[in-house]
Amino acid sequence: MQVMVIGAGLAGSEAAWQLAQRGICVRLCEMKPEKKIPAHESEYFAELCCSNSLRSDQLENAVGLLKEELRRLDSLILRCADATRVPAGGALAVDRRGFAKMVTEAVCSHPNIEVVPGEVTEIPEGEVLIATGPLTSDAFAEKLLDLLGRENTTLNFFDAAAPLISFESVDMDSAYFASRYDKGTPDYINCPMEKDEYLAFWKALTEAEEAPVHGFEDGQVFEGCMPVEVMARRGEDTLRYGPLKPRGLKDPKTGRESYAVVQLRKDNADGSIYNLVGFQTHLKWPEQKRVFTMIPALKNAQFLRYGVMHRNTYLDSPRLLDRYYRLKTQPRLAFAGQMTGVEGYVESCASGFLAGVEMARRLKGQPPLDFPRETAIGALGLYVSNESVGAFQPMNINFGIIPPLDHRVKGKRNKNAELSARSLQIIDQMREEVLT
Ligand SMILES: Cc1cc2nc3c(=O)[nH]c(=O)nc-3n(C[C@H](O)[C@H](O)[C@H](O)COP(=O)(O)OP(=O)(O)OC[C@H]3O[C@@H](n4cnc5c(N)ncnc54)[C@H](O)[C@@H]3O)c2cc1C
Repeated sequence: MQVMVIGAGLAGSEAAWQLAQRGICVRLCEMKPEKKIPAHESEYFAELCCSNSLRSDQLENAVGLLKEELRRLDSLILRCADATRVPAGGALAVDRRGFAKMVTEAVCSHPNIEVVPGEVTEIPEGEVLIATGPLTSDAFAEKLLDLLGRENTTLNFFDAAAPLISFESVDMDSAYFASRYDKGTPDYINCPMEKDEYLAFWKALTEAEEAPVHGFEDGQVFEGCMPVEVMARRGEDTLRYGPLKPRGLKDPKTGRESYAVVQLRKDNADGSIYNLVGFQTHLKWPEQKRVFTMIPALKNAQFLRYGVMHRNTYLDSPRLLDRYYRLKTQPRLAFAGQMTGVEGYVESCASGFLAGVEMARRLKGQPPLDFPRETAIGALGLYVSNESVGAFQPMNINFGIIPPLDHRVKGKRNKNAELSARSLQIIDQMREEVLT
Protein backbone atom coordinates (compact mmCIF):
# COMPACT_ATOMS: atom_id res chain seq x y z
CA MET A 1 0.00 0.00 0.00
CA GLN A 2 1.54 3.23 -1.10
CA VAL A 3 0.42 6.85 -1.08
CA MET A 4 2.00 9.81 -2.75
CA VAL A 5 1.83 12.99 -0.67
CA ILE A 6 2.62 16.16 -2.61
CA GLY A 7 3.94 19.11 -0.58
CA ALA A 8 5.75 18.91 2.76
CA GLY A 9 4.23 21.98 4.39
CA LEU A 10 2.31 21.81 7.65
CA ALA A 11 -0.51 19.76 6.14
CA GLY A 12 1.61 17.46 3.96
CA SER A 13 4.11 16.68 6.73
CA GLU A 14 1.32 15.86 9.18
CA ALA A 15 -0.56 13.74 6.63
CA ALA A 16 2.58 11.82 5.61
CA TRP A 17 3.41 11.15 9.26
CA GLN A 18 -0.09 9.88 10.09
CA LEU A 19 -0.10 7.58 7.05
CA ALA A 20 3.37 6.27 7.85
CA GLN A 21 2.50 5.70 11.51
CA ARG A 22 -0.32 3.44 10.30
CA GLY A 23 2.03 1.31 8.23
CA ILE A 24 1.41 2.91 4.84
CA CYS A 25 4.46 3.52 2.61
CA VAL A 26 4.59 7.20 1.73
CA ARG A 27 6.41 8.90 -1.11
CA LEU A 28 6.57 12.52 0.00
CA CYS A 29 7.27 14.85 -2.93
CA GLU A 30 8.57 18.30 -2.06
CA MET A 31 10.04 20.78 -4.49
CA LYS A 32 12.21 22.50 -1.85
CA PRO A 33 15.08 23.25 -1.81
CA GLU A 34 15.37 23.12 -5.63
CA LYS A 35 12.38 25.45 -6.04
CA LYS A 36 10.73 27.53 -3.34
CA ILE A 37 7.34 29.23 -3.20
CA PRO A 38 7.75 33.03 -2.87
CA ALA A 39 6.84 33.09 0.85
CA HIS A 40 9.49 30.50 1.82
CA GLU A 41 13.14 31.08 2.68
CA SER A 42 14.52 27.98 4.38
CA GLU A 43 15.30 24.47 3.15
CA TYR A 44 13.13 22.89 5.85
CA PHE A 45 9.65 21.37 5.60
CA ALA A 46 6.71 22.91 7.53
CA GLU A 47 8.00 26.44 7.16
CA LEU A 48 5.87 29.15 8.80
CA CYS A 49 5.22 31.95 6.28
CA CYS A 50 4.66 34.92 8.57
CA SER A 51 3.93 34.93 12.28
CA ASN A 52 5.70 32.33 14.45
CA SER A 53 2.57 32.03 16.55
CA LEU A 54 0.14 29.12 16.33
CA ARG A 55 -2.25 31.43 18.20
CA SER A 56 -3.98 30.87 21.54
CA ASP A 57 -3.20 27.82 23.63
CA GLN A 58 -6.16 28.33 25.96
CA LEU A 59 -9.12 25.98 25.96
CA GLU A 60 -11.55 28.91 26.06
CA ASN A 61 -10.42 29.64 22.52
CA ALA A 62 -11.38 27.39 19.58
CA VAL A 63 -7.85 27.24 18.19
CA GLY A 64 -6.65 26.22 21.64
CA LEU A 65 -9.18 23.37 21.55
CA LEU A 66 -8.10 22.30 18.06
CA LYS A 67 -4.48 22.15 19.26
CA GLU A 68 -5.40 20.07 22.31
CA GLU A 69 -7.40 17.61 20.18
CA LEU A 70 -4.41 17.20 17.85
CA ARG A 71 -2.05 16.80 20.81
CA ARG A 72 -4.15 14.02 22.29
CA LEU A 73 -4.22 12.26 18.91
CA ASP A 74 -0.45 12.32 18.48
CA SER A 75 -0.02 15.06 15.90
CA LEU A 76 3.57 15.48 14.72
CA ILE A 77 3.19 19.22 14.16
CA LEU A 78 1.89 19.78 17.69
CA ARG A 79 4.61 17.63 19.21
CA CYS A 80 7.30 19.65 17.42
CA ALA A 81 5.58 22.95 18.24
CA ASP A 82 5.40 22.09 21.95
CA ALA A 83 9.06 21.06 21.94
CA THR A 84 10.24 24.30 20.33
CA ARG A 85 7.91 26.78 21.97
CA VAL A 86 9.10 30.26 22.91
CA PRO A 87 7.37 32.33 25.61
CA ALA A 88 4.37 34.24 24.22
CA GLY A 89 1.85 34.67 27.04
CA GLY A 90 -1.23 32.51 26.42
CA ALA A 91 -0.20 31.75 22.82
CA LEU A 92 1.81 28.85 21.43
CA ALA A 93 4.66 30.51 19.55
CA VAL A 94 7.65 28.55 18.28
CA ASP A 95 11.27 28.97 17.35
CA ARG A 96 10.61 29.18 13.61
CA ARG A 97 13.76 27.38 12.38
CA GLY A 98 13.97 24.95 15.30
CA PHE A 99 10.36 23.89 14.70
CA ALA A 100 10.75 23.35 10.95
CA LYS A 101 14.05 21.50 11.48
CA MET A 102 12.47 19.13 13.98
CA VAL A 103 9.52 18.34 11.69
CA THR A 104 11.91 17.78 8.76
CA GLU A 105 14.13 15.43 10.75
CA ALA A 106 11.17 13.43 12.06
CA VAL A 107 9.64 13.05 8.61
CA CYS A 108 12.91 12.23 6.84
CA SER A 109 13.91 9.61 9.40
CA HIS A 110 10.56 7.76 9.43
CA PRO A 111 11.14 4.25 8.02
CA ASN A 112 7.86 4.36 6.04
CA ILE A 113 8.52 7.72 4.37
CA GLU A 114 10.62 8.18 1.29
CA VAL A 115 11.27 11.82 0.46
CA VAL A 116 11.26 12.48 -3.28
CA PRO A 117 12.76 15.87 -4.08
CA GLY A 118 11.51 17.97 -6.99
CA GLU A 119 8.44 19.72 -8.33
CA VAL A 120 5.45 17.59 -9.28
CA THR A 121 3.93 18.80 -12.54
CA GLU A 122 1.41 16.03 -13.30
CA ILE A 123 -1.37 14.49 -11.22
CA PRO A 124 -0.03 11.02 -10.44
CA GLU A 125 -1.92 7.76 -10.74
CA GLY A 126 -2.84 5.82 -7.60
CA GLU A 127 -3.59 7.12 -4.11
CA VAL A 128 -2.56 10.77 -3.84
CA LEU A 129 -2.80 13.40 -1.11
CA ILE A 130 -2.27 16.92 -2.43
CA ALA A 131 -1.04 19.54 0.05
CA THR A 132 0.78 22.03 -2.12
CA GLY A 133 -0.48 25.05 -0.20
CA PRO A 134 -1.84 28.48 -1.08
CA LEU A 135 1.09 29.14 -3.44
CA THR A 136 1.00 25.82 -5.35
CA SER A 137 3.55 25.92 -8.17
CA ASP A 138 2.16 27.23 -11.47
CA ALA A 139 2.70 24.09 -13.52
CA PHE A 140 0.92 21.89 -10.98
CA ALA A 141 -1.85 24.45 -10.43
CA GLU A 142 -2.57 24.31 -14.18
CA LYS A 143 -2.99 20.54 -13.99
CA LEU A 144 -5.32 20.89 -11.02
CA LEU A 145 -7.43 23.33 -12.99
CA ASP A 146 -7.61 20.85 -15.87
CA LEU A 147 -8.69 18.14 -13.44
CA LEU A 148 -11.23 20.14 -11.45
CA GLY A 149 -12.60 22.29 -14.25
CA ARG A 150 -11.48 25.84 -14.90
CA GLU A 151 -14.73 27.58 -14.03
CA ASN A 152 -15.45 28.41 -10.38
CA THR A 153 -13.27 25.77 -8.77
CA THR A 154 -10.57 28.01 -7.37
CA LEU A 155 -10.91 31.23 -5.40
CA ASN A 156 -8.34 33.78 -4.23
CA PHE A 157 -7.54 36.18 -1.47
CA PHE A 158 -4.38 37.95 -0.41
CA ASP A 159 -2.21 37.17 2.57
CA ALA A 160 0.65 39.26 3.89
CA ALA A 161 3.65 38.59 6.17
CA ALA A 162 5.14 40.88 8.85
CA PRO A 163 8.80 41.99 9.05
CA LEU A 164 11.39 40.50 11.39
CA ILE A 165 13.99 42.62 13.20
CA SER A 166 17.03 41.89 15.34
CA PHE A 167 16.69 42.23 19.12
CA GLU A 168 20.00 44.08 19.44
CA SER A 169 18.70 46.88 17.21
CA VAL A 170 15.66 47.61 19.45
CA ASP A 171 16.21 50.66 21.65
CA MET A 172 15.33 49.17 25.04
CA ASP A 173 15.61 52.63 26.64
CA SER A 174 12.37 53.42 24.80
CA ALA A 175 10.79 49.97 25.14
CA TYR A 176 9.95 47.57 27.97
CA PHE A 177 9.08 43.90 28.54
CA ALA A 178 5.54 43.23 29.78
CA SER A 179 2.43 41.20 29.10
CA ARG A 180 -0.97 42.84 28.82
CA TYR A 181 -2.52 43.40 32.26
CA ASP A 182 0.65 41.75 33.67
CA LYS A 183 -0.92 38.33 32.96
CA GLY A 184 1.62 35.51 32.87
CA THR A 185 5.28 36.18 32.14
CA PRO A 186 6.42 39.45 30.51
CA ASP A 187 7.08 37.94 27.09
CA TYR A 188 6.47 40.85 24.74
CA ILE A 189 8.62 43.88 24.04
CA ASN A 190 6.37 46.92 24.09
CA CYS A 191 7.22 50.02 22.07
CA PRO A 192 5.14 52.93 23.36
CA MET A 193 4.14 55.97 21.32
CA GLU A 194 2.88 59.36 22.45
CA LYS A 195 0.01 61.04 20.59
CA ASP A 196 2.15 63.21 18.29
CA GLU A 197 4.45 60.28 17.48
CA TYR A 198 1.49 58.04 16.70
CA LEU A 199 -0.26 60.58 14.49
CA ALA A 200 2.91 61.23 12.45
CA PHE A 201 3.42 57.45 12.10
CA TRP A 202 -0.21 56.85 11.17
CA LYS A 203 -0.14 59.59 8.52
CA ALA A 204 3.10 58.27 7.01
CA LEU A 205 1.66 54.75 6.96
CA THR A 206 -1.48 55.79 5.12
CA GLU A 207 0.58 57.66 2.50
CA ALA A 208 3.46 55.18 2.07
CA GLU A 209 4.02 53.54 -1.27
CA GLU A 210 2.80 49.97 -1.67
CA ALA A 211 4.56 47.31 -3.69
CA PRO A 212 2.56 46.39 -6.78
CA VAL A 213 0.87 43.01 -6.33
CA HIS A 214 -0.81 41.68 -9.44
CA GLY A 215 -4.57 41.51 -8.99
CA PHE A 216 -4.55 43.07 -5.52
CA GLU A 217 -6.15 46.31 -6.71
CA ASP A 218 -9.42 44.47 -7.22
CA GLY A 219 -8.73 41.63 -4.80
CA GLN A 220 -9.93 40.90 -1.31
CA VAL A 221 -7.88 40.69 1.84
CA PHE A 222 -8.55 38.22 4.60
CA GLU A 223 -9.77 40.23 7.61
CA GLY A 224 -7.65 38.12 9.99
CA CYS A 225 -4.44 38.98 8.15
CA MET A 226 -5.06 42.50 6.91
CA PRO A 227 -2.03 44.56 5.89
CA VAL A 228 -1.31 47.19 8.53
CA GLU A 229 -1.47 50.01 5.96
CA VAL A 230 -4.93 48.86 4.77
CA MET A 231 -6.10 48.85 8.39
CA ALA A 232 -4.58 52.30 8.99
CA ARG A 233 -6.50 53.76 6.04
CA ARG A 234 -9.78 52.76 7.70
CA GLY A 235 -9.38 55.58 10.21
CA GLU A 236 -7.03 57.45 12.55
CA ASP A 237 -7.83 55.25 15.54
CA THR A 238 -8.35 51.86 13.87
CA LEU A 239 -4.83 50.68 14.75
CA ARG A 240 -5.25 51.88 18.36
CA TYR A 241 -8.19 49.47 18.67
CA GLY A 242 -6.25 46.76 16.84
CA PRO A 243 -2.56 45.77 16.91
CA LEU A 244 -1.45 49.04 18.56
CA LYS A 245 -3.95 48.81 21.42
CA PRO A 246 -2.41 50.33 24.58
CA ARG A 247 -4.93 48.80 27.02
CA GLY A 248 -3.37 46.98 29.98
CA LEU A 249 0.18 48.07 29.14
CA LYS A 250 1.60 50.56 31.64
CA ASP A 251 4.86 52.17 30.60
CA PRO A 252 7.16 51.71 33.67
CA LYS A 253 8.75 55.09 32.92
CA THR A 254 5.51 57.07 33.16
CA GLY A 255 3.39 54.64 35.17
CA ARG A 256 0.50 55.13 32.73
CA GLU A 257 -0.84 53.66 29.49
CA SER A 258 0.63 55.26 26.40
CA TYR A 259 -1.36 56.57 23.43
CA ALA A 260 -0.43 53.53 21.32
CA VAL A 261 1.86 50.52 21.75
CA VAL A 262 3.57 48.35 19.13
CA GLN A 263 4.29 44.83 20.41
CA LEU A 264 7.22 42.63 19.41
CA ARG A 265 7.16 38.86 19.87
CA LYS A 266 10.17 36.55 20.11
CA ASP A 267 10.75 34.69 16.86
CA ASN A 268 13.46 32.25 17.98
CA ALA A 269 14.47 30.53 21.19
CA ASP A 270 17.62 32.67 21.58
CA GLY A 271 15.53 35.82 21.55
CA SER A 272 17.81 37.36 18.93
CA ILE A 273 14.95 37.83 16.42
CA TYR A 274 11.59 39.50 17.01
CA ASN A 275 8.56 40.01 14.80
CA LEU A 276 6.28 43.02 14.73
CA VAL A 277 2.91 41.73 15.90
CA GLY A 278 0.10 42.57 13.46
CA PHE A 279 2.42 44.35 11.03
CA GLN A 280 1.78 42.21 7.96
CA THR A 281 2.36 44.58 5.08
CA HIS A 282 2.91 44.98 1.38
CA LEU A 283 4.62 48.37 1.45
CA LYS A 284 7.74 48.68 -0.69
CA TRP A 285 10.77 47.60 1.34
CA PRO A 286 12.42 51.06 1.64
CA GLU A 287 9.02 52.40 2.73
CA GLN A 288 8.76 49.73 5.45
CA LYS A 289 12.12 50.86 6.75
CA ARG A 290 11.24 54.57 6.56
CA VAL A 291 7.80 54.28 8.21
CA PHE A 292 8.42 51.55 10.81
CA THR A 293 11.58 53.28 12.10
CA MET A 294 9.32 56.22 13.04
CA ILE A 295 8.32 54.06 16.04
CA PRO A 296 10.71 55.51 18.69
CA ALA A 297 12.07 52.16 19.99
CA LEU A 298 12.65 50.99 16.41
CA LYS A 299 14.51 54.06 15.21
CA ASN A 300 17.65 51.96 14.52
CA ALA A 301 15.84 48.71 13.72
CA GLN A 302 17.76 46.23 11.62
CA PHE A 303 15.32 44.41 9.32
CA LEU A 304 16.15 40.72 8.90
CA ARG A 305 13.17 40.13 6.64
CA TYR A 306 10.69 42.58 5.17
CA GLY A 307 6.94 41.98 4.96
CA VAL A 308 5.55 40.61 1.69
CA MET A 309 2.15 39.85 0.21
CA HIS A 310 1.00 36.96 -1.94
CA ARG A 311 -2.09 35.80 -3.70
CA ASN A 312 -3.52 32.86 -1.82
CA THR A 313 -5.46 30.29 -3.83
CA TYR A 314 -7.94 27.80 -2.46
CA LEU A 315 -10.52 25.38 -3.79
CA ASP A 316 -14.26 25.88 -3.74
CA SER A 317 -14.30 22.90 -1.39
CA PRO A 318 -18.05 22.73 -0.61
CA ARG A 319 -18.57 21.87 -4.25
CA LEU A 320 -15.55 19.56 -4.56
CA LEU A 321 -14.60 17.77 -1.34
CA ASP A 322 -16.19 15.47 1.24
CA ARG A 323 -15.78 15.74 5.03
CA TYR A 324 -12.44 13.88 4.85
CA TYR A 325 -11.10 16.35 2.25
CA ARG A 326 -11.40 13.74 -0.53
CA LEU A 327 -12.43 14.69 -4.03
CA LYS A 328 -16.08 13.63 -4.29
CA THR A 329 -15.68 12.47 -7.88
CA GLN A 330 -12.40 10.58 -7.31
CA PRO A 331 -11.85 9.55 -3.67
CA ARG A 332 -8.36 8.28 -4.53
CA LEU A 333 -7.40 11.99 -4.48
CA ALA A 334 -7.47 13.86 -1.20
CA PHE A 335 -6.46 17.46 -0.47
CA ALA A 336 -5.16 19.03 2.72
CA GLY A 337 -4.01 22.36 4.09
CA GLN A 338 -4.69 25.93 3.22
CA MET A 339 -5.65 25.03 -0.37
CA THR A 340 -8.86 23.41 0.96
CA GLY A 341 -10.01 26.74 2.40
CA VAL A 342 -9.07 26.09 6.01
CA GLU A 343 -7.20 29.15 7.19
CA GLY A 344 -4.10 29.11 9.39
CA TYR A 345 -1.24 26.91 10.52
CA VAL A 346 -3.16 24.77 13.02
CA GLU A 347 -6.18 24.39 10.75
CA SER A 348 -3.88 23.27 7.91
CA CYS A 349 -2.28 20.73 10.22
CA ALA A 350 -5.73 19.49 11.34
CA SER A 351 -6.88 18.92 7.77
CA GLY A 352 -3.64 17.05 7.00
CA PHE A 353 -4.21 14.94 10.09
CA LEU A 354 -7.78 13.99 9.19
CA ALA A 355 -7.06 13.43 5.49
CA GLY A 356 -4.02 11.27 6.33
CA VAL A 357 -5.73 9.17 9.01
CA GLU A 358 -8.78 8.60 6.85
CA MET A 359 -6.80 7.63 3.77
CA ALA A 360 -4.84 5.09 5.84
CA ARG A 361 -8.06 3.60 7.21
CA ARG A 362 -9.63 3.33 3.76
CA LEU A 363 -6.56 1.57 2.37
CA LYS A 364 -6.62 -0.86 5.28
CA GLY A 365 -10.32 -1.57 4.81
CA GLN A 366 -11.29 0.08 8.09
CA PRO A 367 -14.56 2.06 8.37
CA PRO A 368 -14.35 5.87 8.33
CA LEU A 369 -14.03 7.62 11.67
CA ASP A 370 -16.88 9.84 12.68
CA PHE A 371 -15.31 12.99 14.11
CA PRO A 372 -18.59 14.73 15.02
CA ARG A 373 -19.29 18.47 14.69
CA GLU A 374 -18.84 18.76 18.45
CA THR A 375 -15.08 18.28 17.92
CA ALA A 376 -12.99 21.01 16.31
CA ILE A 377 -11.33 18.57 13.88
CA GLY A 378 -14.73 17.28 12.77
CA ALA A 379 -16.38 20.72 12.63
CA LEU A 380 -13.70 22.05 10.29
CA GLY A 381 -14.00 19.15 7.81
CA LEU A 382 -17.78 19.34 7.90
CA TYR A 383 -17.78 23.11 7.35
CA VAL A 384 -15.37 23.00 4.42
CA SER A 385 -17.43 20.29 2.69
CA ASN A 386 -20.86 21.74 3.48
CA GLU A 387 -22.62 22.23 0.15
CA SER A 388 -25.05 24.74 1.62
CA VAL A 389 -22.19 27.22 2.15
CA GLY A 390 -22.67 29.65 -0.73
CA ALA A 391 -19.83 32.12 -1.26
CA PHE A 392 -17.04 30.08 0.33
CA GLN A 393 -14.49 32.07 2.35
CA PRO A 394 -11.33 30.78 4.10
CA MET A 395 -12.28 29.59 7.58
CA ASN A 396 -10.39 29.74 10.86
CA ILE A 397 -11.64 27.32 13.50
CA ASN A 398 -14.19 29.06 15.75
CA PHE A 399 -16.93 28.05 18.17
CA GLY A 400 -19.56 29.32 15.70
CA ILE A 401 -19.17 26.16 13.59
CA ILE A 402 -19.48 23.88 16.64
CA PRO A 403 -23.04 23.12 17.91
CA PRO A 404 -24.07 25.02 21.06
CA LEU A 405 -24.44 23.39 24.48
CA ASP A 406 -27.83 22.00 25.40
CA HIS A 407 -27.96 24.09 28.58
CA ARG A 408 -27.32 27.72 29.51
CA VAL A 409 -23.92 28.74 30.88
CA LYS A 410 -23.17 32.22 32.18
CA GLY A 411 -20.24 34.05 30.58
CA LYS A 412 -18.51 33.45 27.25
CA ARG A 413 -15.33 32.03 28.74
CA ASN A 414 -17.23 29.51 30.84
CA LYS A 415 -19.37 28.53 27.88
CA ASN A 416 -16.32 28.04 25.64
CA ALA A 417 -14.57 26.04 28.35
CA GLU A 418 -17.59 23.71 28.50
CA LEU A 419 -17.67 23.36 24.71
CA SER A 420 -14.01 22.36 24.85
CA ALA A 421 -14.56 19.92 27.70
CA ARG A 422 -17.42 18.30 25.75
CA SER A 423 -15.21 17.93 22.69
CA LEU A 424 -12.21 16.54 24.56
CA GLN A 425 -14.41 13.94 26.20
CA ILE A 426 -15.40 12.72 22.73
CA ILE A 427 -11.77 12.80 21.56
CA ASP A 428 -10.68 10.74 24.58
CA GLN A 429 -13.37 8.17 23.78
CA MET A 430 -12.22 7.98 20.14
CA ARG A 431 -8.51 8.06 20.94
CA GLU A 432 -7.83 4.36 20.98
CA GLU A 433 -9.67 3.77 17.71
CA VAL A 434 -7.88 6.70 16.05
CA LEU A 435 -4.42 5.66 17.20
CA THR A 436 -4.79 1.99 16.40
C1 LIG B 1 2.26 35.56 2.78
C2 LIG B 1 1.54 34.61 3.66
C3 LIG B 1 1.49 34.82 5.03
C4 LIG B 1 0.83 33.94 5.88
N1 LIG B 1 0.82 34.18 7.23
C5 LIG B 1 0.20 33.31 8.06
C6 LIG B 1 0.23 33.52 9.48
O1 LIG B 1 0.82 34.45 9.99
N2 LIG B 1 -0.41 32.63 10.28
C7 LIG B 1 -1.08 31.54 9.75
O2 LIG B 1 -1.64 30.77 10.54
N3 LIG B 1 -1.11 31.33 8.43
C8 LIG B 1 -0.50 32.18 7.56
N4 LIG B 1 -0.53 31.97 6.21
C9 LIG B 1 -1.26 30.86 5.71
C10 LIG B 1 -0.29 29.70 5.59
O3 LIG B 1 0.08 29.54 4.25
C11 LIG B 1 -0.88 28.44 6.10
O4 LIG B 1 -1.40 28.60 7.37
C12 LIG B 1 0.06 27.23 6.09
O5 LIG B 1 1.38 27.50 5.75
C13 LIG B 1 -0.51 26.34 5.08
O6 LIG B 1 0.09 25.09 5.18
P1 LIG B 1 0.03 24.16 3.91
O7 LIG B 1 0.69 22.89 4.32
O8 LIG B 1 -1.31 24.10 3.35
O9 LIG B 1 0.93 24.92 2.80
P2 LIG B 1 2.48 25.28 2.81
O10 LIG B 1 2.97 25.44 4.17
O11 LIG B 1 2.61 26.42 1.85
O12 LIG B 1 3.17 23.99 2.17
C14 LIG B 1 3.03 23.62 0.82
C15 LIG B 1 4.29 22.90 0.38
O13 LIG B 1 4.10 22.40 -0.94
C16 LIG B 1 5.28 22.59 -1.71
N5 LIG B 1 4.88 22.62 -3.12
C17 LIG B 1 4.12 23.53 -3.77
N6 LIG B 1 3.92 23.13 -5.07
C18 LIG B 1 4.59 21.96 -5.22
C19 LIG B 1 4.76 21.07 -6.33
N7 LIG B 1 4.20 21.28 -7.51
N8 LIG B 1 5.52 19.96 -6.15
C20 LIG B 1 6.10 19.69 -4.94
N9 LIG B 1 5.98 20.52 -3.86
C21 LIG B 1 5.21 21.63 -4.00
C22 LIG B 1 5.82 23.92 -1.19
O14 LIG B 1 7.20 24.05 -1.43
C23 LIG B 1 5.50 23.82 0.31
O15 LIG B 1 6.56 23.28 1.04
C24 LIG B 1 0.16 32.82 5.33
C25 LIG B 1 0.21 32.59 3.95
C26 LIG B 1 0.90 33.47 3.12
C27 LIG B 1 0.94 33.18 1.64
